[in-house]
Amino acid sequence: MTHYTLTCLVCQREFPDTYTLSCPFGCEGLVRTKYAARQMTLRDEKGIFKYRDWLPVSGSLLTDAEPICYKSHGLAAFLGLSDLWLVFSGYWPEIGAYAVSGSFKEFEAYPTIQRLLERRHGVIQISSAGNTGRAFAEVSARTGQAVIIIVPESARDRIFTTVQADHIMLITIAGDYADAIHLGNRMCTLPGVFPEGGAKNVARRDGMGTTMLAGTFAMGTLPDWYLQAVGSGTGGIAAYEASLRLIADGRFGNKMPRLLLFQNEPFVPMVRAWHDRRRTIRDADMPDGNDAIKKVYSDVLTNRTPPYAICGGVYDTLMATDGRMESVTSEDARRAGELFFKSEGIDLDPAAAVCVAGLVKAVQKDIIRPDEKILVSITGGGYSRIERLLPRFVKEPDLQVTKMTPFEEISAQILGWVEKYV
Ligand SMILES: *Cc1c(COP(=O)(O)O)cnc(C)c1O
Ligand SMILES: [Zn+2]
Repeated sequence: MTHYTLTCLVCQREFPDTYTLSCPFGCEGLVRTKYAARQMTLRDEKGIFKYRDWLPVSGSLLTDAEPICYKSHGLAAFLGLSDLWLVFSGYWPEIGAYAVSGSFKEFEAYPTIQRLLERRHGVIQISSAGNTGRAFAEVSARTGQAVIIIVPESARDRIFTTVQADHIMLITIAGDYADAIHLGNRMCTLPGVFPEGGAKNVARRDGMGTTMLAGTFAMGTLPDWYLQAVGSGTGGIAAYEASLRLIADGRFGNKMPRLLLFQNEPFVPMVRAWHDRRRTIRDADMPDGNDAIKKVYSDVLTNRTPPYAICGGVYDTLMATDGRMESVTSEDARRAGELFFKSEGIDLDPAAAVCVAGLVKAVQKDIIRPDEKILVSITGGGYSRIERLLPRFVKEPDLQVTKMTPFEEISAQILGWVEKYV
């Protein structure tokens, strides 16, 4: 027996995990892990696998990477907040943060790959605008797990690792993130190729949920607010699910944290839909999408098809947490990044800067009170230290395609490569 099962949020049925990404009875909705351990026992080890009680894996991979939470002094003083906590995901050795790919995507990649190793044999496929691809590349390099990464041509220099990577097939496509996703979906029809699954993958959600776990363990109690910048909103869903478990644990209070999630103007589809309390995102929520995506400060926040309406998705999560969504401008995000560097001493991923700008705005607009317990998810940062302190192996593309390249041509190459692994 393993220490967890899966349940469908639509039909409530329970089933074992075979790297299952959706309900085997055909429901349209997220599946969620159900862990035998009601109380979390932290393992005496470094890295996110210390939270293994609530991760869908039995074994662990060797890593020092985990979210690190501390109470803010600099930024808190500047904003006049008495109980501000920052949970940092990225590379910042001075505080013990060793996510060498620089973002919380690494906390998704480790359990996802471990879960695949335990449940299926095959190659995993990732479409990414950068951070996810780099995180999976790093974990591939450290484990030997084969991955196929598809990125828009413009993001090719974002795929690098700190150790030599020999089991990555990197494909660039002349197009945008949506084109990379489209090609990736077709590739996953090939035998032996598994999708990483995005929000549907419980390993990704529970891996990301470790930010809430790390925060709550550091604070001793659940926060009043959890703040994060979102593109897909998966991190928000994950924070909510982790909070459900922390409440059931019994040691951290029983008040569900309110989620306060941010997007970067002018690409803010979830903010628009939520402000109308609509379950579905319309095309009109993304006017001039292509143009809007070019204007944002953080392009990892520009997901056109987030898991918003799906059962158990962002809409349901905001309903369940009495949540809010706000938008911030690129100029405010840029300035918030500078403020954070001055007040806390680390450079931020642009998405994390969007979150800090959101915090500033929420304080100014009296959305949060100065004495509330606030947990801010700093989802990425420390790139200047990564550049200065770590080796860098830049992955050269193995295949460069366009939207015109016949799929048969691509799949022939992929199949030949996949054969080595399955
Ligand atoms: C992907 C990403 C986000 C947004 O994540 P969600 O999946 O929307 O929760 C935020 N910050 C960084 C640094 C990211 O890489
Ligand atoms: Zn079902």
